[in-house]
Amino acid sequence: MQTYLVTGGAGFIGSCFVRMLLSQHDVFVVNLDRLTYAGNLDSLGPFLDSERHEFVRGDIRDAELITALLEEHQPDAVVNFAAESHVDRSIDGPAEFVSTNVVGTFQLLDAVRGHWAKRSPQSRDPFRFLHVSTDEVYGSLGDTGQFTESSPYAPNSPYAASKAASDHFVRAYYHTYGLPVLTTNCSNNYGPYQFPEKLIPLMILNAKEGKPLPVYGSGQNVRDWLFVEDHCQAIQTVLDRGTPGEVYNIGGNAERTNLQVVETICDIVGRLCPDLPYNPRDLITFVQDRPGHDLRYAIDAGKIRQELGWQPTQDFASGLENTVRWYLENCEWVDRVTSGKYQRERLGTTG
Ligand code: NAD
Repeated sequence: MQTYLVTGGAGFIGSCFVRMLLSQHDVFVVNLDRLTYAGNLDSLGPFLDSERHEFVRGDIRDAELITALLEEHQPDAVVNFAAESHVDRSIDGPAEFVSTNVVGTFQLLDAVRGHWAKRSPQSRDPFRFLHVSTDEVYGSLGDTGQFTESSPYAPNSPYAASKAASDHFVRAYYHTYGLPVLTTNCSNNYGPYQFPEKLIPLMILNAKEGKPLPVYGSGQNVRDWLFVEDHCQAIQTVLDRGTPGEVYNIGGNAERTNLQVVETICDIVGRLCPDLPYNPRDLITFVQDRPGHDLRYAIDAGKIRQELGWQPTQDFASGLENTVRWYLENCEWVDRVTSGKYQRERLGTTG
């Protein structure tokens, strides 16, 4: 049985990856997560108590803890999801993003390098370190073109800059030490269990509750959207068949303006909740644009498609409809994270 050390496995994408691993593969998962406001053990459902899952509350900046976990479990792969991930928070408080995303990734990489170097050649060769990153490192596109793996880095937000720095460290550990790393840069994810500060869950919940739907600027910023399970399958594909030292872009080929996304959500919510006494579209409120707001992201995912045979399975229309249904049907999950009940019960804090 293979063993994976997954960091950030209580977050939106990490928890999806852990659920997928435990349901589809005969693996043991050590799940290291600090449980910030974005980490939620409820998202693991019944897998939390699986005998093939061990949850460790801890920090990727804690090199001693990571070394101890590596020595105890001798993982076949380390997959790094742990990060501060919300652009607006990075504008208000960039220091935490430097600390977790840059220093944390460095501490994790360095502990992995130290452990890996001591392994026998037989267990060193198949080992993989996969770093999960974002298309935001490439900056902004004009009306045309797509990011490829050789697009220059040009991050514009503190979040993107911190992820870019972490990507550079990952690259350097391959070229300097030969650590078998892989980096994936993915477009915007959506799906169940996303913390309701991000665009799609926020709009679904506000539309349902009759609250304003704040849209930055004129809503013309374009993002490419990928269903979270497709992202996780892509990560597994890169782990299985990717070449160490390589970067793989992952995208859904589903470009939409933010306004199109919000209007579509309004229409789905209106259809699924016919008793609402208002048209959700009337709640759309244009607010002052985010500073440094990138105009357009678009991903050329040709490399992972052609070399590794991955492609998305969920089209945006049905993926979004399923996501809206999930949020409408899982009010308890939503209530527990938004009210702070989850933090109090699970963690004994008011945070
Ligand atoms: P998230 O914010 O939902 O989850 C992050 C997780 O990391 C949380 O569980 C949190 O508790 C944990 N964490 C934070 N700091 C930590 C630390 N110092 N030590 C250990 N754990 C820590 O984020 P997400 O949306 O699931 O994103 C996961 C990864 O994917 C991130 O690296 C992000 O940059 C990347 N990514 C996200 C998207 C997206 O659309 N959400 C797209 C591309 C790439």
